[in-house]
Amino acid sequence: MGSLERKLARRQVKTANKAIKKAMSSRLGLFNHLPDHCFGCYKIFDKKNRKQVFTWKVRVVEATKDVKLFCPDCMEAVNAANELKKAQ
Ligand SMILES: [Zn+2]
Repeated sequence: MGSLERKLARRQVKTANKAIKKAMSSRLGLFNHLPDHCFGCYKIFDKKNRKQVFTWKVRVVEATKDVKLFCPDCMEAVNAANELKKAQ
């Protein structure tokens, strides 16, 4: 690999890293607006409960910056509804 190619490759990595960092920080910003309950059934979400943190799903509506939180049960219902929509 020539030195110019190496330089370009390095620049590409840098740009990618920047994009990831930017996406992460905006995600984290949205995380501050995380609701404390499920959007579907209003079940309380415990941020300190690791199991809940890993099983609950966050959906971000980019257009409105709306953050919706779903418990696993409601997420399943949402997915089923989406599948139904796709099938129609
Ligand atoms: Zn729910």
